[in-house]
Amino acid sequence: MIKVQKADAEKGMEQAIVSLSIVVPCFNEEAVLPELIRRVSAVAETCVGSSWELILVDDGSTDRTRDMITELAETKLNIRAIILSRNHGHQKALSAGLTYVRGTNILVLDADLQDPPELLPDMLELMQDGADVVYGQRRQRAGETVAKRTTAAAFYRLLDQLTDVDIPLDTGDFRLMSRTVVDYLNTMPEEDRFIRGMVSWLGFRQIPLPYDRAERFAGETKYPFKKMLRLAVDAITGFSIVPLRLATWLALLTTVLGLTLIVWVLFQWFTGDVVSGWSSVMVVVLLVSSVQLLTIGILGEYIGRLYLQSKRRPHFVVERVVSGPDEHS
Ligand code: UDP
Ligand code: MG
Repeated sequence: MIKVQKADAEKGMEQAIVSLSIVVPCFNEEAVLPELIRRVSAVAETCVGSSWELILVDDGSTDRTRDMITELAETKLNIRAIILSRNHGHQKALSAGLTYVRGTNILVLDADLQDPPELLPDMLELMQDGADVVYGQRRQRAGETVAKRTTAAAFYRLLDQLTDVDIPLDTGDFRLMSRTVVDYLNTMPEEDRFIRGMVSWLGFRQIPLPYDRAERFAGETKYPFKKMLRLAVDAITGFSIVPLRLATWLALLTTVLGLTLIVWVLFQWFTGDVVSGWSSVMVVVLLVSSVQLLTIGILGEYIGRLYLQSKRRPHFVVERVVSGPDEHS
């Protein structure tokens, strides 16, 4: 009989004690919390009975969110509160929540109900059909400004061009993941965390689920332009060393242009139609600038490798181990 072992990341990890964990980072979300709890509890009950937990992470809120979350955790059986010491930002808050999960499947959700929790049954069904990650892919984004939609669209496309990892377009952090994927995700210690990219990087079977993004239920966006820009920079620098290669490409360009110019400069020199000293200065400037750019490019290659190494990501990700009939385990 063929034996299939689970992936390494799952070995030695805490056993799943519920079917479903739902992780929600919250920053000043007092206006949406009651509705969030109502909708999440309803859909979780219908899908998995009482075998679920809701992990609410308070990301240093300055309104009543922190108190509300603490009280909910104290009074409700399925709710746990993780209170961060200060505002760490969405991606770090989410990372914190993901280290506390005890479920077989893990749903990541924004607090503002822009991503409908009611998609959970469809997501679970896709998981049963063999997916390891089901990510929500936005068809439409209601109630968001044209500026936000265009910058988001441009950003996802630029990211796609710059990175080797297939990070799906128009996808946020709204996704259902298997325990193996989350365990692996938790082993990635990198400082700047662009979670949707990290999940794509892990591989496994990732299936999109198209949906229409709703308006924020209440309150206003906690992602002002500055934070969005920061996320975009984290995404590009975290998943691409292409910018470091820019110098190499410029060096190639200046070498080709420089060589052409040198031919012209020498021609001028031979015909004697130049000020004394011009030709030699031109040749030196053109050659030296190419050499400089090229050496900066070489430095970039090494720095890029050092940078990737410093992330200490797992060297490989094992999905499962299959062994033949004779092998003893
Ligand atoms: N969030 C957070 N820390 C922050 C900013 C945002 O935990 O510093 C949470 C926020 O409470 C919400 C999610 O991240 O649950 C997404 O934020 P938001 O909905 O404001 O972003 P948008 O949908 O406008 O991009
Ligand atoms: Mg939102």
